This record gives sequence, structure tokens and C-alpha cells, in this order.
Amino acid sequence: MEASAHTVETQSGGRLIVVSNRAPVRIVRTGSESRFETTVGGVATAFVQLLDKYGGLWIAWSGGVEEFGPAMTAAPERRFAMHLKRLSESEVTLYYWGMCNRGLWPLMHQMTEYCRFNAREWNAYRKVNESFAADCATAADTGDTVWIQDFHLALMPSYLRRGAPNLPIGVFWHVPFPPPGIMAKFPWHTELIMGMLGADLIGFQTRADAHAFLRCCETFCTVAVDYQNELVRTDGRTVAVGTFPIGAPVDYFERLAADPHAARRLRQIKRAVKVEKLIVGVDRLDYTKGLIERLTAYERFLERHPRYEGRVTMLQIAVPSRTRVHEYMMLRRQIEEKIARIIARFFRAGWLPVRYLYKQYPPETLAAYYLAADVAMVTPLRDGMNLVAKEYVAARADLNGVLVLSEKAGAAQELTEALIVDPTNIDQMVGVIKQALELEPDERRARMRALRARVKENTLEHWADTFLAALRAAYRGAHPHAIAKS
Ligand code: UDP
Repeated sequence: MEASAHTVETQSGGRLIVVSNRAPVRIVRTGSESRFETTVGGVATAFVQLLDKYGGLWIAWSGGVEEFGPAMTAAPERRFAMHLKRLSESEVTLYYWGMCNRGLWPLMHQMTEYCRFNAREWNAYRKVNESFAADCATAADTGDTVWIQDFHLALMPSYLRRGAPNLPIGVFWHVPFPPPGIMAKFPWHTELIMGMLGADLIGFQTRADAHAFLRCCETFCTVAVDYQNELVRTDGRTVAVGTFPIGAPVDYFERLAADPHAARRLRQIKRAVKVEKLIVGVDRLDYTKGLIERLTAYERFLERHPRYEGRVTMLQIAVPSRTRVHEYMMLRRQIEEKIARIIARFFRAGWLPVRYLYKQYPPETLAAYYLAADVAMVTPLRDGMNLVAKEYVAARADLNGVLVLSEKAGAAQELTEALIVDPTNIDQMVGVIKQALELEPDERRARMRALRARVKENTLEHWADTFLAALRAAYRGAHPHAIAKS
């Protein structure tokens, strides 16, 4: 199978094959013209840039049930080829909306009250994972490296290993991993973990996630776990486990923030929102993001500090997400009711206490909102990493911004100079909102300078290089003969 003309070889001399549930781009047809649009989400935003750098092949679900002409779609402006998979309507319902969104997503975030497990959905999940593995085995050549993304494809590594035993297979788990006590609630926990163990390397966002995974291996599977070296031995193979916190595309956001487009957009935002201080939130509309708690804290802040009335506004960007899932529809309604209540309670002529944008913005516009944010509130109840936090820091070369960050976001492990909060402790958040608004300029700049050093240490590119180098090393450890031959 041919890759795009610009393919950059991986260290082994082969291509990089990235596999993920969603395609990083959506094909939009207007008349006879087709163009690509980037889809939202940490994975998509990050990987378009990554594959543009490395070249290779991306295998993903097209996002719909229709066929996109030939199976291989190479976008001419991109440096990689795409294999867009078609799923049937029932697969989309059972595998994607069911098992992924209503089963595994809340399970991984330890929000079992939202979990719904169903055997038909698990069967569909198995079939889709098998089909991804079969396509990948057909596409891959000797020397290629396969990098599987996230919880949608947990079973794929073991299926792929059966079909192509000598490929280096890496998995990166973008979401958190739950401890055994939570995993025990999932009826197919052993199968899920054994599926992942088909890989040579499994990467997590934080040490806590990696450790939770090792504990689950020990609890639910007949394998040997070496905690010190973070290795799992199974079926005569060794699987490496590691921590690889994903980075942001720092240069990209720096450039966007320095662009005249961002400056123009910033002026528009400032003209529309005439207050001394703007607090900004940017999230997918998801129950993991702590939006209700954040709004509750802001409401209480206004209640306790009336001198801020007319001087501060909270602007919340909520990206429509999983709109067919009941819990998300309910959450949207709850958020909008809460915002309406805050506005009704505090509104006065010429001042809106909250602005709400239920919309997805392109990164160019997002950069302007980052620049407009005197304070960025990133307060998820649980989050694998949270790229918004890192992008905000990347955009603030002017050092004028304060990051309020949840201790439950993976990013809090690195971004320790942020104002760290417990996202469920409303009173503490009220205090931190006040602290963020009143931070002395020197401290504000010192904190942002330190944060910027951290995001620059571990950029998206650095993260990818580190993961791929570790994957090669793990593969060499696991398959010494295969490497010696090549
Ligand atoms: N994002 C975007 N447009 C928006 C809001 C967000 O492109 O209007 C992007 C943002 O730049 C970030 C990603 O969506 O890269 C969100 O990633 P994050 O890790 O914060 O959360 P996730 O949505 O993956 O849970």
C-alpha cells in the first residue's frame, strides 16, 4: 500500500500508522467542491499537526455511515494519507454512542453514575476493534510502526498482534485510567485489559493512571507485574507501561496569538465585553468538565463580592458534544438554566455577568479568546490532560494571564504554578477566583513565566518523539530477533 509522496520514515525505516476512532478531519462537500475541516478534541487537534510532521497513514472512522469514494483518501494539502473507515448505522449506535460514550468514557473518568453497560454494545465494540485491526494489518508493511489512540480501540492491539505479530504496536491512553475498585464494575474488565496488553508499549497521561493500570493488570489478569520497571509479562511477552503527558503545539499557538487576525478579533471581543476583567472557560460540553460547579462558584463569588458587579464577566465557550446522548442533553439544559439564573439575578444595564457561546471555534479564534482571558478557568472534575490549559499558557507570551487549574486535570501534575483548585470545593473556588483577579502583576508574570517554561519543555512534538522512541525501545526489548534482522 502506498503512502503519500511526502511520507517521512520512522526510525525503523517504515511509516508511522496512527489509528484512532475519529478522523482528524471532516470532509465537507459544497457543490462539486470538497474540503477538509479539523474536528474538535484534544486528539484531533494534536494529531493533524503531528502527522503533517511525520507523514505516514491515518486510519480512522469517517465520522459517518457513508462511504467516502475510494477507501484511501489522500488529502493533497496534507503530508499523510488517510484511510477513512465506514461503520454501519448499528455499529455507530452500539459501539460509538453506546459502549464508548455511555460505557467506557464515564468508567474511565470514574463517574459510574453515568455508566451503562450492555452486552450487545460490547459485542459491537469487539467487532469494530477487529475490523480496525484487520484494515491495519492489510495496510501495514514490515518496518511500519503502529500507534493506536485511546479507549475506543482497547481491544485492537491484541487482534492486530494476531494478524501481524511482528509490528511494533503502541497505545496511548488519552483519558484517565480507573483503579481496580472502579474497574471491577465493568463486566468485561479482564478482556479489555488483555486487549490492551497486545501492545509493546502502553502510555498514560500521569503516573497515577499508569499505576492504576498496573494494579488492574495484577487484580484482574493472570500476568506478572513489575511495578518498579513498569512492565507486565504475559504469554511470554513483555509489555512496557509508561507516563507520557501529552503536550500542546506551543509554537502553533504562539504564532496564532501573535497574528494580526488574533489582534483584530481581540479588539472585537473587548468592544463587546466592556469590563475590567474577563474570566474565560473553554470546554466541550461534558459532565467531566465541572461546568455546573464552576458557574456555581462564580455565582457565589458575585454574591459575596458585590463590588465586582459590573466589573467582571465570565465568558464560557461550550463546544457541542455527544448531542445524541441523553445525559449531555440534560447537562446542556442544566447549564443554560444556571446561566439564565445568574443573568436574571445580577444583570444590570450595560453589563452581562455571563456570556455563553455554544459553539466550536477554529484555533485562530480560540487564540484571541485566550488573549482576552485575564483569567482562564480550567476546572474539570476529572480530565486525562486538558490541552486548553496548555494552549492558554502557550498563547500568553505577554505573561498577562492567570490560569486557574483543577487538581483533577492531568495538566496539574506539570503546571504547578497555576492556581490549583479542588473543582468540587465551591468555597475554595470562590476564594481562588478573587485571588486570580487580584494577583499582583509581578506574581502574575512570574507564575506565567514558569508555566510557559513548562509547556515549552514538553511540547506536542516532544511528546510524540518521546513516545515513539520509547515504543522502538520497548519493541527491541520484546522482539530482539525482529530488529536484528532488519
Ligand atoms: N477546541 C477548539 N475549538 C473550540 C474549543 C476547543 O478547537 O471552540 C480545541 C482546543 O484547542 C483543544 C481541544 O479542543 O485542543 C480540547 O482538548 P482538551 O484536552 O482540553 O479536552 P477534550 O475535549 O479532549 O476533552
